[in-house]
Amino acid sequence: MGRRTPDEIRTMRRAGRVVAEIHERIRDAVRPGVSTRQLDGIARAVLDQRRATSNFLGYHGFPAVICTSPNDVVVHGIPDDRALRDGDIVSIDCGAVVDGYHGDAAFTVGVGEVDRAAQRLIDVTRRALEAGIAEMVPGNRLGDLGHAVQATAEGAGYTVVREYVGHGIGTAMHEPPDVPNYGRPGKGRKLGAGDVLAVEPMVCAGREETAVLDDGWTVVTIDGSLAAHWEHTVAVTDDGPEILTLP
Ligand code: MG
Ligand code: MG
Repeated sequence: MGRRTPDEIRTMRRAGRVVAEIHERIRDAVRPGVSTRQLDGIARAVLDQRRATSNFLGYHGFPAVICTSPNDVVVHGIPDDRALRDGDIVSIDCGAVVDGYHGDAAFTVGVGEVDRAAQRLIDVTRRALEAGIAEMVPGNRLGDLGHAVQATAEGAGYTVVREYVGHGIGTAMHEPPDVPNYGRPGKGRKLGAGDVLAVEPMVCAGREETAVLDDGWTVVTIDGSLAAHWEHTVAVTDDGPEILTLP
């Protein structure tokens, strides 16, 4: 994991700001009847406007600039012409590249009126992300981060996906190290100022095992239970964690 200089982190902040703007615009547009392809179009427009490029489009052949993952889809859903429906939940994951540096973040939101169980899953997953980020101080270890995520999710009665993990990020979207959403306190690589990680809990209401659909991308829960996904790109600094994917 390459540690980033303050100048590099400044550039990553710019990439992160574009990602955050995409999130805001899409959040405003999510409603029953909108297609995920329309949401992808919104993201493309923001990327163009900000002269940023997409790190998703063409990634191992991925055909869109965002991943849209409704209901039992955990991650990597491909935007299409199907309309979102009242009561769905959907994860929106996107990234941007500015001057060679990457940002990557995701959120999950309810479409129209969602039931309390679905909203609780969304909220707990977000809290799990926040708990993980809070561990990103110099001297802590990746196991501290993973444990905090896991304890938050499992403490609420959910499971965390183990087959997909967070990652280092910088001049590539996916860099070492892996950032698991589970772990043991005091174990794993030690964090230091300049480390930048994409932390991204994927939390399931049911079992944690996943399967990939025939399109080669779409990751679903094996039991059809709901899943939520939140992500930020975060730098470790001497003053604590700094979330780079914010407006
Ligand atoms: Mg992502
Ligand atoms: Mg990521």
